[in-house]
Amino acid sequence: MFRKELLERFIRYVKTDTMSNAHVARTKHPSTEGQWDLLRMLEKELRDMGLEDVELDSCGYLLARIPANMPDVPCIGFSAHVDTASDVMGNGVKPRVIESYDGGDIVLKSGLVIKAAENPELAPYKGTTLVVSDGTTLLGSDDKSGVAEIMTAVHRLVENPQIKHGEIEILLSPDEETGFGMDFFDASRLHSTVLYTMDGGTRYEISSECFNAASVEVRFKGVPYHLGDARGRMVNALTMLCHYVSSLPQAESPEATDGRQGYYCAHEAEGNVEKAKLNLLLRDFDYDALKERIRVLEKLASSTEALFRGGKVEFSSEISYLNMGESARSNPKALQAVWDAGRALGQPLEDRVIRGGTDGARIAAARGIACPNIYAGGHNMHSCCEWAALEAMNDAALLLLEIVNQWTK
Ligand SMILES: [Zn+2]
Repeated sequence: MFRKELLERFIRYVKTDTMSNAHVARTKHPSTEGQWDLLRMLEKELRDMGLEDVELDSCGYLLARIPANMPDVPCIGFSAHVDTASDVMGNGVKPRVIESYDGGDIVLKSGLVIKAAENPELAPYKGTTLVVSDGTTLLGSDDKSGVAEIMTAVHRLVENPQIKHGEIEILLSPDEETGFGMDFFDASRLHSTVLYTMDGGTRYEISSECFNAASVEVRFKGVPYHLGDARGRMVNALTMLCHYVSSLPQAESPEATDGRQGYYCAHEAEGNVEKAKLNLLLRDFDYDALKERIRVLEKLASSTEALFRGGKVEFSSEISYLNMGESARSNPKALQAVWDAGRALGQPLEDRVIRGGTDGARIAAARGIACPNIYAGGHNMHSCCEWAALEAMNDAALLLLEIVNQWTK
């Protein structure tokens, strides 16, 4: 129903360079100038549709509202991010539209091949429209599919005032891929009782849960000595650090776990004989289990200190984001509306946990509102073999509108 508009928007958005830069995102927001180009384009498009409550703030958060045309319906929101990842080149995207996919391998202009055998998700899209890059860049479906779906749905709502709804909020944000995407956003500005992020992948996949996440820093202080006279005197901070890392349970590492299992990950280290620093990432779906992981590492710090007499170990931890499943449980209607919408449209939705976090998880933690993540239709994201399915994008836009409808009931 929306295919033409979705495709036109998607192509235009992916051609705008918005690759973000994690190295400067802590201080510069948005981290790259290109993101402003797309944000300003979207701001203008929303105003041209006739929306009056549209604000692009100085940190690059575009917040817009469609006023309610029906009383007593809670405000709900939809969100997507405008930046693309930097794992492979994300700028200079030259999208190619494959109008009727033949079901076989897709040879990209660069010579790279998206093999049908390695991408079983391609099969259902035989005979339909796909979009790929030229193979020298990613495509940017993460998350410009989501942006195109939201913009198309907003257009539909504005043009058809007979479609009844409560207040609808739209948040288009920068720098999600850097991990600092929500650092400069004041979540208290939101009116929404639930914020749906349109930032998933495979068609029909919904995620109501993600990890609880913490980061830990351990600082080791050794006792340096002239190496020739070191016996019985020197304490090597690097040896302490290695002891600490090798004491971590390998069976609970990212490379040994999947599904709902949490993990410890030694992530970054630096140092010398005198002092060394280790950063670790902890993840768990259960918040109490995450806190237990922090306690385990703290105990390991004190036992390491006891083992290396004269050495010192300092420990600090910080919660990064929380499982959005907690806030989803406090507002059951948030997910119920999604399941009901899927049923009304005949879409076989599936709930899949995210072994990671989303910007929604940060908002969920800051505001205590539910932020389920909805599929947007891209595959092989963050790679030159990325592809997007127009049928999935169309279904996502339809689902979005049906969720709006479910809230009026
Ligand atoms: Zn994304």
